[in-house]
Amino acid sequence: MKKTLVWTLTFIIFGFSVLTSGVFAADFPDVPQNHLNYDAISSLTEKGVIAGYEDFTFRPEREITRTEFCALMARTLGYDKDTYVLKDIPFGDVAEDYWGRAYISFCFEKGLINGMEEGVFAPADKVTVAQATKMAVCAVGKGDEALRVNGEKWYSGYMSLAADMGFLASVTQKADENAARSNVAQIVYNMLLSGSLGENEKGDSFDENKKDDVLDETPEETTREELSDEELSEIERVFAEKDFSDVKVILVDAGHNYQGKDIGAENLDYDIREEEITWRIADKLRKHLEAMGYQVVMTRKKMTDSIANSSALDSLQARVDLAHTSFADLFISIHCNIGNGVGTGTETYCFQLGGYSARLAALVQDKISESTGLYDRGVKTANFFVTKNTIMPSILIETGFMDNDNDMKILATEDGQEKIAEAIADAVWDYDMMEPLQIDVAEEEDNDEEA
Ligand SMILES: [Zn+2]
Repeated sequence: MKKTLVWTLTFIIFGFSVLTSGVFAADFPDVPQNHLNYDAISSLTEKGVIAGYEDFTFRPEREITRTEFCALMARTLGYDKDTYVLKDIPFGDVAEDYWGRAYISFCFEKGLINGMEEGVFAPADKVTVAQATKMAVCAVGKGDEALRVNGEKWYSGYMSLAADMGFLASVTQKADENAARSNVAQIVYNMLLSGSLGENEKGDSFDENKKDDVLDETPEETTREELSDEELSEIERVFAEKDFSDVKVILVDAGHNYQGKDIGAENLDYDIREEEITWRIADKLRKHLEAMGYQVVMTRKKMTDSIANSSALDSLQARVDLAHTSFADLFISIHCNIGNGVGTGTETYCFQLGGYSARLAALVQDKISESTGLYDRGVKTANFFVTKNTIMPSILIETGFMDNDNDMKILATEDGQEKIAEAIADAVWDYDMMEPLQIDVAEEEDNDEEA
């Protein structure tokens, strides 16, 4: 448990180093506005993730090396050269003084790469579409899931999951081909657009999908207040003694903010935003839980509330902090999914299987799919910020897909939201009635280290 806390406390807010390019896609004569990948290239260029050349061209057809792609991914995921500490990497062919060593180290540390074979990274080899796709899938925490998909090629699982998540839209090359700059930009851009990184670690500069203009007023910025050393040691002390099978206080997190950073997905047809749906479900859940005698702490008390909305990461950390300072016994985060029009159903996430979080996730998943009829996508694990950094049992529910009409009939209606809320409350009750888990303490600490 102590280790989990340390993780939370030492979490570094990623800075973001902008390349001094100043050359925007609008200026690239070889990327006209009707270029298939124009949006991707112009967005990533503006963010400083990928740059043009000295002669003001972008060279969309040019292939890039595996190291160059690592650099691109590292910048996307918040790599900061001023604060990043090099790790040992197991690749004999990456020299100590190689220009891209830090990027490779960063991506290795994040679990995005594991090399070609024992000890070989092949830094100067061209990156293929499949390799780039694999890294994007791993970046959103779906690497393990991809490995479980059966397929002919090593990359079958990655490609099929990536397609599901919309990462391959407007990508014109095949998996085995060396990827062109236009296509790697598109894959990374799609990954950001998909919102799959939303709950994960990423650079602060990414607020794609963030619909500041939905509200015709400037969002009021709120920042996170850091916990004091006294608060932290009190948290550590209280949680060290907790019996997590006994529930009194429940943190209910209505996913995302109403204004500013950490805004969720949107369905224009229904004219509804994720943060509205998540709050409506959360508030209904609060009523049920309170009626059962539980104490509920809400991250957003009103629908229009925003928490530490000056950055997405601050917003997520503030939710984790609130759970800790309220000494919550359970953490329940409510979200809606988005899947490029092809995804459907409900899924519940925990950080790892085998513990209290997974126990709660399984109950919630069963109850929601049973009562709403939403397709049962099962319990899954992922590195979502809030489930990874909370000490208490915690889950994140992707209740349904906002870009699926069937799912929206549940998500966007009072009746559907009520069913989901009631199902979650029932699951909490059942959880509370169960016997404590028999957990070998030593074993649990090992798991923490792996994570
Ligand atoms: Zn969400």
